[in-house]
Amino acid sequence: MTLRFEHETYGQRVRFASGAAAEATAEEIARLGAGRVMVIAAGAAAELAARVTADVPLVYVHDEVVMHVPVEVAERARAAATAHKVDAIVSIGGGSTTGLAKAVALTSGLPVVAVPTTYAGSEATNVWGLTDGAQKITGVDPRVLPTAIVYDASLTLSLPLEMSVASGLNAMAHCVDSMWAPRTDPIDAALAEEGIRALATGLPLVAEHPQGLVGREQTLYGAYLAAVAFTSAGSGLHHKICHVLGGRYGLPHAPTHAVVLPHVLALNGPAAPDAWGRIARAFGSTDALDGLQALRDRLDAPRALRDYGFEESKIPDAVQAILPVVPQTNPVAVTADNLSSLLHDAWSGAEPR
Ligand code: NAD
Repeated sequence: MTLRFEHETYGQRVRFASGAAAEATAEEIARLGAGRVMVIAAGAAAELAARVTADVPLVYVHDEVVMHVPVEVAERARAAATAHKVDAIVSIGGGSTTGLAKAVALTSGLPVVAVPTTYAGSEATNVWGLTDGAQKITGVDPRVLPTAIVYDASLTLSLPLEMSVASGLNAMAHCVDSMWAPRTDPIDAALAEEGIRALATGLPLVAEHPQGLVGREQTLYGAYLAAVAFTSAGSGLHHKICHVLGGRYGLPHAPTHAVVLPHVLALNGPAAPDAWGRIARAFGSTDALDGLQALRDRLDAPRALRDYGFEESKIPDAVQAILPVVPQTNPVAVTADNLSSLLHDAWSGAEPR
């Protein structure tokens, strides 16, 4: 078969610097020539943020961080950036914090140095998201891609095990969905395969030794690869489902991804033999789904959407909301019947079929 595809690689500096976030962040800010830096970090991360930015020319610390970035929260951060005449942003936190920095970058064009403390991967994508009332709006814009990322695994040691597992499986979902997302190509598939391998290596180590750095580093590395594959490949069926579940019913981001993933893999996998083979290989298994389920068992992963507030009676509404956004390129035809079965299984925590 001939190789014919188009792939865009986005420019971004990426540093892995366990235990050295402060030095690396100061160097990245110096490279930008910035002299008036705004830090975005939730109040709970204030002490951490002060340590990481000890050598950065700070003019303002913004600590109003809210999940899914409400528009009015973004507006206040944008106004603060203007009022303080900042010339660069350092964001320190999970996807919600990075998301707020992206919202400011979207309208101001300010460069962002992202210092992630979860495995969400937002720092490596050009996707932004805001919520306006109950509506989640997302978009793609080169201005929101952080200029540099500083990964310091020691900053994730404080992430509780349950959140580490859910966040790591959110990254796993970026990898798996990248295998059949609308713009996927062989480069995305290769990155996603290595991402799965790194996550499948790192997450069990995190579960066994939550205070060990090796597992946390591998998991961050996998989360980065996952996000790079995802930003290039786009949203596949899995992300379309989770986007509706999160936006429409307020389900928590990472656990929703963790629950839904095996069901989408079970539906799509048999019709996507190349992806199935890659995923199996990355897990060191002969069967992709067995590989994922064995990992989920070791991690005691989130299992049922009903544990996160999703009501069974909402399934028909969810099916109607998801069907129109299913990518045309999905390897399996998605119907009201198979989608309804998938959501029922994910709701109850049944084995994927
Ligand atoms: P989050 O940022 O909301 O963090 C979850 C919780 O963990 C918060 O209470 C936070 O304070 C806490 N926390 C974060 N790091 C910690 C640490 N090291 N120690 C202790 N506590 C810590 O959640 P998330 O899962 O990282 O991100 C979810 C958000 O990111 C969603 O809004 C999602 O839509 C967005 N997201 C966007 C992209 C993108 O490409 N734009 C990709 C992934 C996720």
